[in-house]
Amino acid sequence: MTRRVLVTGGGSGIGRAVARAFAAAGDRVTITGRRLAALEETAEGFDMACRAADVTDEAQVQALFDAPYHVVIANAGGGVAGKLRGVSLADWNATLAVNMTGTFLLFREALRGMGTGGRLIAMASTASLKGGATVPAYAAAKHGVLGLVRSVALDVAGKGITCNAVCPGFVDTDLAEAAISAVQKRFDLTRAAALAEVVSDNPMGRLIAPDEVVAAVTFLASPGASMVNGHALSVSGGEI
Ligand code: NAD
Repeated sequence: MTRRVLVTGGGSGIGRAVARAFAAAGDRVTITGRRLAALEETAEGFDMACRAADVTDEAQVQALFDAPYHVVIANAGGGVAGKLRGVSLADWNATLAVNMTGTFLLFREALRGMGTGGRLIAMASTASLKGGATVPAYAAAKHGVLGLVRSVALDVAGKGITCNAVCPGFVDTDLAEAAISAVQKRFDLTRAAALAEVVSDNPMGRLIAPDEVVAAVTFLASPGASMVNGHALSVSGGEI
């Protein structure tokens, strides 16, 4: 069966790698994000639909569901780093909006048309499973995403649908690059030293490749994962 797959934040990083993997496997993929040009770059050479939408906007998320999807991946996310005393209300609200509200809106709409065999997958983080002194808003939002996933999983368990979270450590994307630059500036380090600091929580001592996250997502979307529900799959080299 050709599945319809929706990936948010498909214009870069993990979302781009995930979308291309599903498309290469023959699924009908729709990618969404705020910048159409970035989406079109992801789709280059692949048979993919591109739809501009901000995941924090209820009407724009609703408009994505003109037909039901079999696999819905809430990947859009991010947040600013900094200790709690320096977090503005605007940054706090924006971090909760893209990670938590975005996942809520997407999964709520997805469930309205999703049938047996459906898969809801959230791109959470190791920050869903532990705190971080310099990422209080992000960790709070990603803990919230996991709470939503675990609750939805119980709701859909009787309908042949699963809802799971993938929890990566630092993955080699723009988001990790921003974290490395911030550490480099803050502590006046070389890039190599800042990278070593960023990956120091990962026992494997390196950034995770986007394809290593893709493998977890494709597993959770596979028929073989039909009994995996409400799970937080850590892709972190043993950090968790
Ligand atoms: P990224 O910055 O390349 O990807 C985030 C994507 O989300 C971007 O394409 C961005 O445009 C999109 N986005 C942001 N706000 C949006 C909004 N309001 N509406 C629609 N799209 C929006 O970084 P990434 O590393 O690929 O991150 C993907 C996901 O993985 C995020 O949820 C992130 O929190 C999570 N994650 C990343 C890492 C890492 O180290 N890179 C680790 C753990 C979890």
